[in-house]
Amino acid sequence: MARTAVLGLPRVGPNRELKFALESFWAGRTGAQELQETGRGLRRAGWERARAAGIDVIPAGDFSLYDHVLDTACALGVLDPGDYFAHARGTATRRPLEMTKWFDTNYHYLVPELVGDQRFALDASHWTEPLREAAALGIRTRPVVLGPLTFLALAKGDKPPLESLVPVYVQLLGELAAAGAREVQLDEPCLALDRSPVELDAYAEVFAALVQAPVELCLATYFAPADPRVFALPAAELHLDLVRAPQQLAAALDQVPGRLSLGVVDGRNVWTTDLDHALDPIDTAVAKLGSDRVTIAPSCSLLHVPYDAARETAIDAEIRPWLAFCGEKLDELRILGEAVDGDRDALLADNRAVTSARRTSPLTNDPSVRTRAGALSAGDYDRVAPYPSRREAQRDRVSLPELPTTTIGSFPQTAEIRAARRDLKAGQLGAPEYDRFMQARIAEVVAHQEQLGIDVLVHGEPERNDMVEYFGEQLHGFAFSQFGWVQSYGSRCVKPPILYGDVSRPEPMTVRWWQYAQSLTSRPMKGMLTGPVTILQWSFVRDDQPRRETCTQIALAIADEVTDLEAAGCFAIQVDEAALREGLPLRRGEQDDYVRWAVDCFRLTVAPARANTQIHTHMCYSEFNEMMEHIVRLDADVISIEASRSGMEVLDAFTGSLEYPNEIGPGVYDIHSPRVPSVEELERLLELAEARVGRDRLWVNPDCGLKTRGWNEVRQALTNMVAAAHRRRAAV
Ligand code: GLN
Ligand code: ZN
Repeated sequence: MARTAVLGLPRVGPNRELKFALESFWAGRTGAQELQETGRGLRRAGWERARAAGIDVIPAGDFSLYDHVLDTACALGVLDPGDYFAHARGTATRRPLEMTKWFDTNYHYLVPELVGDQRFALDASHWTEPLREAAALGIRTRPVVLGPLTFLALAKGDKPPLESLVPVYVQLLGELAAAGAREVQLDEPCLALDRSPVELDAYAEVFAALVQAPVELCLATYFAPADPRVFALPAAELHLDLVRAPQQLAAALDQVPGRLSLGVVDGRNVWTTDLDHALDPIDTAVAKLGSDRVTIAPSCSLLHVPYDAARETAIDAEIRPWLAFCGEKLDELRILGEAVDGDRDALLADNRAVTSARRTSPLTNDPSVRTRAGALSAGDYDRVAPYPSRREAQRDRVSLPELPTTTIGSFPQTAEIRAARRDLKAGQLGAPEYDRFMQARIAEVVAHQEQLGIDVLVHGEPERNDMVEYFGEQLHGFAFSQFGWVQSYGSRCVKPPILYGDVSRPEPMTVRWWQYAQSLTSRPMKGMLTGPVTILQWSFVRDDQPRRETCTQIALAIADEVTDLEAAGCFAIQVDEAALREGLPLRRGEQDDYVRWAVDCFRLTVAPARANTQIHTHMCYSEFNEMMEHIVRLDADVISIEASRSGMEVLDAFTGSLEYPNEIGPGVYDIHSPRVPSVEELERLLELAEARVGRDRLWVNPDCGLKTRGWNEVRQALTNMVAAAHRRRAAV
């Protein structure tokens, strides 16, 4: 019989119990006991859930109070487990560990820092305790351990050679065996990244040492195709992500010495699996290996999906059955297992009905959207004129001083503002009152900016709780869950919009707010939009068409907004693409294709703008080195980037061999910190910027939006920013 397995379960709790337990613990309202109790309860619920669904291989040790990379660092003796939350969150005297994205997901892990001559010392309790807890419930579990290659690749600092981790891992595997584990899942997603032959040879040696341990090793790769050299490693089981990389199956079947775990249920998305389609690779594998060498699994840990779609009763009844969160995916795995030798017509009848309903629904097929996207031609991606003549036209229309000052969009989102949005949603505040309230906030922000002497103003975005959700809610093709939380990091969760169908814009989304804001001032008021790639990237998107097609549809919808803002008289329109870079595929070979269509979608969005309309874009990160060719191709009139923390060094990418030809606003004010930068400091940053980019192409702005900051610090920081710009203008 083929067996079913799960690589990891969501851990925040169906009602974000972990988040609330952590917050209460950090606030000193509850003690360590209660927090551990919550953890135990969540683990137990997950195991019992998987057992009830009939899953054969259930994970343990995948649960974490904050982050599994931090857990691993503590267990290996790299960090002191006594300082667990201090490492995660920092203290008054200590900075937290750096945090970064877990591969191409929206989960963030903490980056352990290794020191020269790093020593390791094992504390296996992170796994042995849950193993015993589960055993006490009569549930046999498979511990999930982050493998040495990936741990080392994700860490920073003075890294020791891979072999130096072997003893501590061998000891860990031994202790897990002693605690009752029969097999161990060794997660090595880095084996699916671009690894050199030398690295893979080194890994083969390390792995040969690890398999000596008295447990079966199940080597798990995901998010990308594993390097073919991995197939022949002497693992008891090899897991492959066949959702992301189905093409690797054939070669793996020829080479694996043990079981093959087929990741056929998408662990990164929320759609009901087409079970007939998922059975294809399963049938192939069973024919080749025999069913006892086949495991049926999700593509990766279910950490990246929410708990239960069944609870989403507020979602359109036609769409709801198309959704499968963790609970539904567990059921799918069981059905797939039964269908290997079972009566498929009976087992798959429901699934076939759902799959075909979704495929043919008018919600996923809007002929007008499809006709419009199908009719696009090369010229639709270009502005009417090249940058130099646009620049002339824009200067004729609006005259700005040298080193113009602006901000990135949002102003502080006070408790009052959040309450007003909440009350409107709950029906406790009428639309006219809500509008009056928001207009008053906009008026404040405009008055402030005029007082400060900022040149290009913003309305402050008080009506937006999130830069993607705000647009998703007004576009056709998006649904919103009530409980669809996924962990972003530690106690933080996000609830991504669900993009299920063809996207269109029934009516203008931002124009009336912009009009109101512009009516209050004679200075130019920027229109503020979120770009198509960022909307795509921060949503769960449909899996029944390529991402680029979905992105093109979003681009056309946002392009309509550009057209309407312009028609209303808007001079400067900013299209934020905060997530452009994070969409980069993990394997280098796929990156070029992605960046090409992503940039195309941005160009399509702003192409309708006339030459004398100034298009801004904003990207708040500072790694542009390999992206410059594509950033240039965006052809925005002005780009604002994060730069203060790198001391303007990020500008080197913009002035290298591929010089960025248009205008640039390198952020001078680090909005991640409450610290107010002094005029002198800001002036020095501007000088550094001027040394790299001609003054006639420089803008002066913060690193990102100000929504998480307090009014006091914002007022002071912007006062200093404007003063610094004035001083630089006066300097010769
Ligand atoms: N306009 C948005 C804001 O200012 C941009 C946010 C972002 O780039 N993350 O809040
Ligand atoms: Zn930003």
